[in-house]
Amino acid sequence: MNKNSSLEQAFNPQLFEYQAEQVVQALMSYLQSAQSEAIITNDYQSPEDSLAYWQKHFDHTPFDLKHFLQTVLDRSMHLHHPKYVGHQVGVVAPLSALMSLVSSLLNNGMAVYEVGQVSSTLERIVIKELAPYFGYGEQADGVLTSGGTLGNLTALLTARACKAKESVWENGHTHKLAIIVSEEAHYCVDRAVRTMGWGEEGAIKVPTDDRFRMRTELLESLLQEAQRKGIQVIAIVGSACTTSTGTFDDLKAIGAFCQAHDLWFHVDGAHGAAAVFSPDYQKLVDGIEMADSVVMDFHKMLLTPALTTGVFYKDGKHAYRTFHQKAHYLWNNQEETEWFNYGKRTFECTKLMMSLKVYAIMKAYGISLWEEYVTQMFDLGKEFAQLIRRTPNFELAIEPDCNIVCFRYAPKEVEDLELLNNQIHQRLYEKGDFYFVKTKLRGNTYLRTTLMNPSTRLSHLQELLEQIEEEGIKLTQTIERYSSIS
Ligand SMILES: *Cc1c(COP(=O)(O)O)cnc(C)c1O
Repeated sequence: MNKNSSLEQAFNPQLFEYQAEQVVQALMSYLQSAQSEAIITNDYQSPEDSLAYWQKHFDHTPFDLKHFLQTVLDRSMHLHHPKYVGHQVGVVAPLSALMSLVSSLLNNGMAVYEVGQVSSTLERIVIKELAPYFGYGEQADGVLTSGGTLGNLTALLTARACKAKESVWENGHTHKLAIIVSEEAHYCVDRAVRTMGWGEEGAIKVPTDDRFRMRTELLESLLQEAQRKGIQVIAIVGSACTTSTGTFDDLKAIGAFCQAHDLWFHVDGAHGAAAVFSPDYQKLVDGIEMADSVVMDFHKMLLTPALTTGVFYKDGKHAYRTFHQKAHYLWNNQEETEWFNYGKRTFECTKLMMSLKVYAIMKAYGISLWEEYVTQMFDLGKEFAQLIRRTPNFELAIEPDCNIVCFRYAPKEVEDLELLNNQIHQRLYEKGDFYFVKTKLRGNTYLRTTLMNPSTRLSHLQELLEQIEEEGIKLTQTIERYSSIS
């Protein structure tokens, strides 16, 4: 290789060290300034402005790593800022992020043991160590996969392999299949069902009660109705918790119903299964031990970079039935339960070495890190709810189960709360000081916060309410002026 060639440079270890120092330096100063609130949460740019900026950068700006990094940092969402209270994406513990770097550079493929000895072995240990937190026994096992969406699809494919009366994997569908799930479940469950080719009828939606919990007393009649139509229900999916409101379904009731009717019980615990680590909140997931499978995102409530999702099975051998297909160049026999060839049980072929990210956290800080974090964030959700109830002109959507809190600004004199709350959200989003989101509940717009950041305090949330009110008052005046003119 020519010493000055790009190829030589691209693999030069000294250059890598120099670049890595710049990256770490930039990220360190990002962490400091986000945590100390020296920067804002999000510098809003419209999609058009953002595209114009980066196109110009691509076309005209010579590459300078330091400048590039700074620009990326300035223009990104700062999840480490205590005023980040938006989507339920994990606020990453830096050690875990460093493991992403290791995974990226080593790039061990993971489909087969040969190209991922360490990460495959650590995956085994991580899954086996965590399974007992779900109340699972020795038989339990599972895999890490790329996101809750894929995790739920994987678990439902396992359910189909175990419960459908025919082998769909071999012969395709000849009978209609369905699962039963709450109308408030994450949309990926519906998407998984449609991906499997079951159409709209394939997800039988259970209405929810006034706290958005699945009305389990309706399960019997929904099951009978499906049977009358000739649809085989194979599974029920419980939400732990729902995405919009953070509501935990009654897993005990669902579990008992599944046992009585020989159905697969799957828990979508992408966000809330982490409650198992908190003695104060594990009652939210009572009954999870009855689940045949559980999905839990480490990149939500467990301080790990995306995407890192666990699919846990009460009886680990079921996972080998998910994908029966033969891949002779990778392994000899799909039917053999080799824990070390993960590609047999995951949708992915090549896969990130995600176990490193989880293992490092578990070893460096212990499970107590998650216990402390989950408890603190769920507590803060309750405190925020109390604050909202005490503050005039604000309305809590429901009493929160966890760290997802929905509310709206609702002064009595304002008629169009929809318009008002949508506009408040837009204004504050563009301002970029706080980042929070909104959601529709039974047709009404609510502001939605997910408290993910361990440095968020009640005083920040007090300030959020003040900013909302301030914006609300300004907008109400404009709206009044506007309506008196028209
Ligand atoms: C976030 C979420 C998902 C989707 O998980 P991804 O990791 O984003 O694919 C599924 N279900 C629930 C309940 C969630 O909160």
